[in-house]
Amino acid sequence: MSMTNKKTIEDVAVQGKRVLVRCDFNVPLKEGAITDDTRIVAALPTIQYLINNGAKVILCSHLGKPKGPSPEFSLAPVAARLSELLGKDVVFAADDNIVGENAQKAVAEMKDGDVVLLENTRYRAEETKNGEALSKEFASLADVFVDDAFGTAHRAHCSNVGVTQYVKDCVAGYLIQKEIQYLGNAVNAPVRPLVAVLGGSKVSSKISVIENLLDKVDKLLIGGGMAYTFMKAKGYEVGDSLLEPDFIDYAKEMMAKAGDKLVLPVDTVIGKEFDNDTETKIVPEGGIEAGWQGLDIGPKTVELFSDILKTAKTVVWNGPMGVFEMPNFAKGTNAIAQVLATLEDATTVIGGGDSVAAVNQAGLGDKMTHISTGGGASLEYLEGKDLPGIAALNDK
Ligand code: ADP
Ligand code: MG
Repeated sequence: MSMTNKKTIEDVAVQGKRVLVRCDFNVPLKEGAITDDTRIVAALPTIQYLINNGAKVILCSHLGKPKGPSPEFSLAPVAARLSELLGKDVVFAADDNIVGENAQKAVAEMKDGDVVLLENTRYRAEETKNGEALSKEFASLADVFVDDAFGTAHRAHCSNVGVTQYVKDCVAGYLIQKEIQYLGNAVNAPVRPLVAVLGGSKVSSKISVIENLLDKVDKLLIGGGMAYTFMKAKGYEVGDSLLEPDFIDYAKEMMAKAGDKLVLPVDTVIGKEFDNDTETKIVPEGGIEAGWQGLDIGPKTVELFSDILKTAKTVVWNGPMGVFEMPNFAKGTNAIAQVLATLEDATTVIGGGDSVAAVNQAGLGDKMTHISTGGGASLEYLEGKDLPGIAALNDK
């Protein structure tokens, strides 16, 4: 794929240029206050680089899903927080048209090294339809376009895809560069052995990931809710466990194709109810009784998966091993996170919203080589799809 060969901010001249940066400032807000500024902090390296190199830095992002202009979705609080983090003025271009008179005026007044933040790109409905007018308006502010919003890279919107049709230099910021480097290399040019760990609730939502990865990995470990459809396909009863009957044949096909590449749980923690405090038992393969459901992988499976993971040089993990939101069924997921954290010369890449949450909940986020910032986008990357937001950037 050409996706790994994109120009970055270091490949273009930015001094004195108006540089429009599509950021991911989709932060959680409570009564107008930012409750988690991780995404703003993550955007700092790109912004700081552009400031240091004398660009006029024009930032844009969506925030939530507003239906037209509405104050509770304004990016004004982001401008204030960003200004604190950068230790310099960030001019907020309040403007219901996003690129209206006020924004144009703010940009016209910029000096090299100044920072302007535009209003929420979703104040206009055309944004998510990749409309021409708004795309051209964004482009009218930019000599150079930088995309640093991986979380929306799987969508074609005006502010990440449309705009690139009207700007000559379109490049990746540091965040997208890092995602391409780690996700791209893990899947397309891995140091082997490459082991993928897949879990989560449904086979149906991960079919394309399984298919794409099966050809590339040395081992594919399957846990979580999706494992029961495979167990059923092997001929075992799975009680009240998550099961997708329509995908049993598919699971059979995958098992036949994969041979011993595909590794399933050898024991299961089952519970009476879908409840943290329910009665539990650990049962071997094929031992899930009627009236019980599988809620986590068992200790023998943890051991089996750990032994395989310890041989890996690259690990890609998507999907928790059990219902990790309930402490009593988070043990398998935590144990796998712990193993990854102790791998010394392996690249460990975590993608998927819940998997990232699980790793962070275990306090092991900083022990992983790369934690993807985009749930949906990382999933589509693992499916082998071209992400429109990345495909639109210039090749080296
Ligand atoms: P990701 O967001 O990392 O891609 P998914 O969204 O596919 O992961 O799956 C996460 C969900 O899967 C979690 O909410 C978790 O509780 C659920 N899950 C994992 N194992 C089981 C299980 N055995 N039974 C029911 N749900 C499960
Ligand atoms: Mg999820």
